[in-house]
Amino acid sequence: MALNHHPQNILKLVMAIIGLCLAISDHINLVQGELQTLTHHPVAKVQDSADGLLSFLVVGDWGRKGTYNQSQVAFQMGRIGEKLDIDFVISTGDNFYDKGLIDEHDPAFEDSFTNIYTATSLQKPWYTVLGNHDYRGNALAQLSPLLKLKDSKWVCLKSFILDADIAELFFIDTTPFQDNYFTDPGDQVYDWRGIFPRREYLSNLLKDLDMALRESTAKWKIVVGHHPIKSNGHHGDTQELVAQLLPILQANDVDFYINGHDHCLEHISSQDSPLQFFTSGGGSKAWSGDMSAINSEATKFYYDGQGFMSMQITEVDVQVLFYDVFGRALHKWSTSKWLYSIL
Ligand SMILES: [Zn+2]
Repeated sequence: MALNHHPQNILKLVMAIIGLCLAISDHINLVQGELQTLTHHPVAKVQDSADGLLSFLVVGDWGRKGTYNQSQVAFQMGRIGEKLDIDFVISTGDNFYDKGLIDEHDPAFEDSFTNIYTATSLQKPWYTVLGNHDYRGNALAQLSPLLKLKDSKWVCLKSFILDADIAELFFIDTTPFQDNYFTDPGDQVYDWRGIFPRREYLSNLLKDLDMALRESTAKWKIVVGHHPIKSNGHHGDTQELVAQLLPILQANDVDFYINGHDHCLEHISSQDSPLQFFTSGGGSKAWSGDMSAINSEATKFYYDGQGFMSMQITEVDVQVLFYDVFGRALHKWSTSKWLYSIL
């Protein structure tokens, strides 16, 4: 039978090929997982200088239009940020109190962010996750590209990976893990758009994180979320994360877990692995004296006032410092990975 070159048949053939291509590209996307990867290649610095190769600050729980010492913490961040020649800033969430942003045009974005963190050294990317208070407003507004147009340093996604050469950072959306926000929300209304079906959202996120961690060849693996896994602060340990997230971090040799949520600064070590837990949630209102039971064996440092944290990373060592509202160093800790382990 002769080949039929009728235009309709050719159109059908073209449509079939396009359909096949789309199906293949969908498959590739699924195979690659859903976590978007951003890259941040640090500006080359002198290897043996005190500055280190990668430096950043971590602040959480801050957006109060400058009140509760937010402006003072911001000022000290600017000073330390300049001294360390930082590459970027990490925000551990609860970016805007009390109920996130109303929409992309909410002036709280300028009042609590752009007009507060004005130091030259802080005009670097702010890699940001959402906290539970951000979910009490329009959570999607904080992810809007419009905010980046207003202030180019703002980088906020629900979950993502940051490839910074010697370190890889995995930002995880921890708010939807917390059962009582769903079962006992009280008067609070959460913006759960994009979260349902919840069980599937969480299992996909954990699967994607596990796969990305397994494939990571970075010298240092750091996971960032809003809620603590371990904390001596008001909220204490987050049982959902202890049960679901912690085993993945331990199985993949994650070095550090960094969070906010408890309005304090703290450092807790692991008893059974090198994993270290750092809370930096002192960006504005602190909860002086409001603590849960202290695990004295694992706790290296606890401070119930305002402040922030810095991290300086080289190929072989990491130095962590916590600062108070006056910029005084409160706790200094460092660790090394010897050359044999990175060859
Ligand atoms: Zn919180």
